[in-house]
Amino acid sequence: MPVIRVLPPELINQIAAGEVIERPSSVVKELVENSLDAGATRVEVDIEQGGARLIRVRDDGGGIAPDELPLAVASHATSKIGSFDDLEHVASMGFRGEALASVSSVARFALTSRARGAEAAFRIEVDGGKLQAARPAQHPPGTSVEVRDLFYNVPARRKFMRAERTEFAHIDDLLKSLALARSGVEFRLSHNGKPVRVWKAARDEQAALARVADVLGEEFPERSLRIDHAAAGLRLSGWVGLPTASRGQPDSQFFYVNGRLVRDRVVAHAVRQAYADVLFHGRHPAFVLYLELDPVGVDVNVHPAKHEVRFREQRLVHDFLFRSLHEALAQTRAGQAMQPAA
Ligand code: ADP
Ligand code: MG
Repeated sequence: MPVIRVLPPELINQIAAGEVIERPSSVVKELVENSLDAGATRVEVDIEQGGARLIRVRDDGGGIAPDELPLAVASHATSKIGSFDDLEHVASMGFRGEALASVSSVARFALTSRARGAEAAFRIEVDGGKLQAARPAQHPPGTSVEVRDLFYNVPARRKFMRAERTEFAHIDDLLKSLALARSGVEFRLSHNGKPVRVWKAARDEQAALARVADVLGEEFPERSLRIDHAAAGLRLSGWVGLPTASRGQPDSQFFYVNGRLVRDRVVAHAVRQAYADVLFHGRHPAFVLYLELDPVGVDVNVHPAKHEVRFREQRLVHDFLFRSLHEALAQTRAGQAMQPAA
């Protein structure tokens, strides 16, 4: 007879890590989302060797009280929800309380933080799931997380890591999507000591559009329309690419639901339909769109990495998106028809 046993916590965390920590960029995603949840106005990401050697994320957010540092790396420990009701209303990027526990079980991990208003900073280290006691450290208000030698104790995962350039490209793409999600936050990215991206906080719409242009191409602003449309408790804003901004690949599509980049069937269908009669077959629209709605209307607890959401009223959301986009595109069709052919 096989014996049933409860798994040791380190193994539980390593199994959980398998769900969300696929590659270095997944670590960056979790860490930067934590910084944003902590109210950071500045997030700095330093990468070495595509993230295989080092991932460091530094922020100026609210920080963590010294006695809570060990809890931050414990599994199912979070400051973001405390009840089922909270889960239904969750507006933060995180809420599962699993990311730091997972990451610290598959890397050499350090967390240094100085809580808002505190005099001193403290640091804890976790080596492959083993926690070391907190000790005083130097750090400005905010938090730094260092993840070294990712998957050093999970050879199967380490083997699946791609070339340094490929892994860094994933991180760069991820950072672009986060930078578009929060144009009011400053982001910096460096690789092997060289600055790669600097996005200063955008204070107005023009600056926000400049950041969009930086990611989608300098010609995007003049090939897109600003949209801002609200109805039935839904608001859609952002930039809708004109047919002239379309691409051969669906690589310039950013759709955020309450600040979270998502891939969603309902959204994809509405967008496709809205563009159906203005785009040639095989062309993909470019857009940066922000849908905002009451968090109760959308379930974010669908996928561990939270790439997916489920709308409570799918039909309503679909028709709102379709109509908003279709109308915007219809206006340009009329406008273009009146202009002499170029
Ligand atoms: P979750 O984000 O789902 O709550 P995590 O494992 O990512 O779970 O983080 C655990 C907790 O650690 C968070 O709830 C938060 O209280 C704290 N934390 C993590 N990163 C930061 C940070 N950069 N700044 C402040 N607090 C943080
Ligand atoms: Mg988190």
